Amino acid sequence: MIRNFVYVKAGSIAEAVKALSTKGARIHAGGTDLLGCMRDEIFAVDKVVTISGIQSLKGISPQSDGGLRIGALTTLADIAANQSVASKYAALAQAAASAASPQLREQGTIGGNICQRPRCWYFRGDFPCARKGGTMCYAVEGENEYHAIFGGGPCFYVHPSDTAVALSAFQAVLTVAGPSGSRPLKMESFFVNPSNDILRENVLAFNEIVTAITLPALTGNVRSHYRKIGTRRAWDFASASVAMVLQLDKDVISRARVVLGGVGPFPWRAEAAEKVLMGKKPDDAAAAAAGEAATTGAEPLRDNAYKIDMVRGAVEETVLALA
Ligand SMILES: Cc1cc2nc3c(=O)[nH]c(=O)nc-3n(C[C@H](O)[C@H](O)[C@H](O)COP(=O)(O)OP(=O)(O)OC[C@H]3O[C@@H](n4cnc5c(N)ncnc54)[C@H](O)[C@@H]3O)c2cc1C
Repeated sequence: MIRNFVYVKAGSIAEAVKALSTKGARIHAGGTDLLGCMRDEIFAVDKVVTISGIQSLKGISPQSDGGLRIGALTTLADIAANQSVASKYAALAQAAASAASPQLREQGTIGGNICQRPRCWYFRGDFPCARKGGTMCYAVEGENEYHAIFGGGPCFYVHPSDTAVALSAFQAVLTVAGPSGSRPLKMESFFVNPSNDILRENVLAFNEIVTAITLPALTGNVRSHYRKIGTRRAWDFASASVAMVLQLDKDVISRARVVLGGVGPFPWRAEAAEKVLMGKKPDDAAAAAAGEAATTGAEPLRDNAYKIDMVRGAVEETVLALA
């Protein structure tokens, strides 16, 4: 049962920010994650501020410099189906299309997707884990096959969003609205390392809202791809995934961005793989070397070493898909 709460339907961003003035208030976009958390009492909510009626937060628009602006309320289905996204930022369209189920993609928004709470079964279950203010991460000794192999500790959850991985690979910039106006925020500065603060996943203050995401203009021969591996092909979060953006000059890679999903507490940049790819043709040898390099620094728990092979294979396949 969901506990009683105050409901505010914000008509504007300013109204929404004002209504978020108390710490028990939460933003409601599509509600596909929030309502489950409220039902299961994962965190206390005494006020729901819905932004779903704010039209200016919806839609995808080209920017004068060649980039693309995506409103935070744009649904995953709309992003997956958008021609501009598919042709210029294929990895993002593929990531959006790979998330959840058709029904959830129709309802779930990109703002909610990158802000969704962890899916760790201890966090979502009836356990007083460290992320909920307790003293321990139950995954360390418990069932940890779906947990982090990179950047884990003191909490070992993996960031659940597919689109965040692609947005990180494109070096997208968020627009964040708060009491003192709007500010740009790079994707790479958005997520919080659990070793710095175990209680939150991103740097947003309780009264800040992601209003838009801007994809930078791409010039030259830029190709991208998103590869996701899960235990099922639908309705499932990534066990491991990779978003790769390569720029090629005369068949040689002149810029590479490789970001992994499902393996760390935030989209995990595989810099060693990027270095390996630079200056090479995207052939079998480069793909194998990048796959190997992407596993650098992995520290599996008892039951999730299989993710190392997934990372190696997904990165190798993705280089070849872009060749
Ligand atoms: C069965 C199931 C399977 C799923 N599988 C996948 C999957 O494979 N891949 C994947 O990526 N996701 C998956 N999801 C998650 C789903 O995609 C998200 O629930 C959805 O994208 C969240 O969007 P929403 O608009 O419904 O967010 P809401 O539920 O409204 O909000 C989610 C959270 O984000 C906050 N929030 C929402 N919008 C903003 C904003 N603009 N600014 C700041 N904070 C905000 C809310 O306060 C809340 O804490 C799955 C979910 C379910 C239930």
